[in-house]
Amino acid sequence: MTHPCAVRRVLFAAAAFALSVTFAPLPGKAQPPAGQRRPQLPDTGGRSATYDPLKTFAPFAMPDAVNSYRSGNGAPGPAFWANQADYEMHASIDTATQTLTNDEIITYTNNSPDMLNSLWLQVEQNTYRTDSRARTFAGGSRRPGADQSSEGTVFESMELMGNGKNAKAEKATYVISDTRARIDLPAGLAHGAQIKVHIKYHYKVPGQWGGRTSVGKSKDGYEIYDIAQWYPRMCVYDDIRGWDTQPFLGNEFYTEFGNFDNYITVPASMLVAGSGVLVNEKDVLTKAQIDRLAQARTSDKTVMIRTVAEIKDPASRPKQDGTLTWHYHMDHTRDAVFSASAGFVWDGAKINLPGGKTALSLSFYPAESAGDEGWGRTTEYAKDTIENMSHDWFSYPWPVMTNVAGFSSGMEYPAMVFDGINSKNKGLFVVTAHEVGHTWFPMIVQSNERRDAWMDEGFNTFIDIYESDQFQKGIWGPKRDGEYAPGGGFPADEIAKIIADPEAPVMLSRADAIREKYRHPITYFKSAEGLYILREEIMGHEVFDRAFRKYIKDWAFKHPTPSDFFRAMASEGGEDLDYFWRGWYQNNWTMDMAAKNLKWVDAADPSKGSVVTIVQNGQLVIPTWIEVKFEDGTSTKTKLPAETWMQKATFDMAITSPKKVASVTIDPEHRVPDNDRSNNEVKQ
Ligand SMILES: [Zn+2]
Repeated sequence: MTHPCAVRRVLFAAAAFALSVTFAPLPGKAQPPAGQRRPQLPDTGGRSATYDPLKTFAPFAMPDAVNSYRSGNGAPGPAFWANQADYEMHASIDTATQTLTNDEIITYTNNSPDMLNSLWLQVEQNTYRTDSRARTFAGGSRRPGADQSSEGTVFESMELMGNGKNAKAEKATYVISDTRARIDLPAGLAHGAQIKVHIKYHYKVPGQWGGRTSVGKSKDGYEIYDIAQWYPRMCVYDDIRGWDTQPFLGNEFYTEFGNFDNYITVPASMLVAGSGVLVNEKDVLTKAQIDRLAQARTSDKTVMIRTVAEIKDPASRPKQDGTLTWHYHMDHTRDAVFSASAGFVWDGAKINLPGGKTALSLSFYPAESAGDEGWGRTTEYAKDTIENMSHDWFSYPWPVMTNVAGFSSGMEYPAMVFDGINSKNKGLFVVTAHEVGHTWFPMIVQSNERRDAWMDEGFNTFIDIYESDQFQKGIWGPKRDGEYAPGGGFPADEIAKIIADPEAPVMLSRADAIREKYRHPITYFKSAEGLYILREEIMGHEVFDRAFRKYIKDWAFKHPTPSDFFRAMASEGGEDLDYFWRGWYQNNWTMDMAAKNLKWVDAADPSKGSVVTIVQNGQLVIPTWIEVKFEDGTSTKTKLPAETWMQKATFDMAITSPKKVASVTIDPEHRVPDNDRSNNEVKQ
């Protein structure tokens, strides 16, 4: 994405600066004393009481080393590998007991160079047990109350099967540890080998208190099942930690990529919304619905597939009694979820992707959410978000995006999101754009959500900033909400207050250790603002966009770490950004620049121009605009680069114009988080 106007402004400002402002000249060339080869120049630098250049500009030690798996340029290395987990599910919901039963086959491929002696799985329904670790975890934002519990996942059987022709199923030996299960592999699983895990289990679907997954009732009395975090699934085995088995404390997930076939059996009256493509529409839809779905695939305008009036019309289902099995298929995905309800309205429209490709935007919602103020427009919101983000960053990779109104919002899964049943207008647009925006982070670029939530929540919030500017030419922009500048003012001023809070955690904290008070301010807002500052202040659009797009492309369907991101942006961006990684990500360093001592160089000779002293009081350094206003009403702007502060805490900026300077202002547009603006302006 380019913004030509902004570029022109920068060029103009730079040209204006060149005419009127120069950096203070070095002292005249001194003669070396006899016997000395070089002149000893007077020292011009040094630290101050609150700013030490050597600290800010020290070499930055990346959390993870470069090796053959991960390269110095931040891209996957020549020996990069990831394991694969494919799933086949035969699930059903017993609505009388609100129980989900599943017959699951995992096909797991070991691409690692290691022999695996065991398999670790996530068993996330166990988070709802009364003895779960989540119960005593104080930071869980969605922790259920004491009276809200389930038995968790109840295993009926677990078998292992090799991939050979004559392979026989064998009973698996396993242990459960909170929300994880370890399965023993007596013969081991060698590099390149594959094994199948066959699991039968059931669990009671949590009520609305479930948070991430639930069953609740719409106002017209239909149950809505949001089924997520619902099946035992492979933990990631990677080159960073081996098995990454952090328990499910209520936050998000880190999973392997693979292909899914979900066969979901529910009462015939229900519609099922699922991740991926509905394979057997002829079995589960009426002729009219099949026709309307086909129409939606080619229509930019939203097409109704099932209307509010049809909810109570038996003719809107192909069968009245018994059950129907819906088959959803999805490739290259790290999860696949579904929702089911007899009370769903359903609509859809075409998504236009780069290169003439198309996809389908679908929405499922109860009657109470229908209408132009509400869910009648979510298909349009998701379509717009995907079209813009595909154009700007990376093309949407799946054939469908489905948005569901239920009781487990707002939450993102690959190709399917849950948003608020009661949300309306701008609020519904913002949450839809955000959850759909998670397609890029972490559904395509899968950083470790359970450890580094800032790499998905913050990066997504960053791309959401531009979607808010773009949707209908910004009618609901600029983005200012609970995720980004909640006070509605200058984001830089709001973030300055947050990072000055001595209790605020740093971004590189373990995600689960960030308490609720700071989750949105740090994980979403500060992370998004970090990218915004990189793009708008440090690197510029052309340089940033190329580097960030390369990072997305390089790590699509892979697992990058914070170090990979830091290296990718610095290498392709052509900037040594160590000072910013340290100040913004590893620390909550604050920034405070001050202007003082504005005066003529020689009051008797205006042709010598003026000089102003700019002081760096904070340990955080960011390139910053300085505006010089002259008495005749003209002005110039220039940006002081980070290098200004590499050796010193004060800088005497020369203003070469013979015109009288009225004032000098640091960061007049509030673009950087200057902590104390009372000292940003000096007048003559
Ligand atoms: Zn999010």
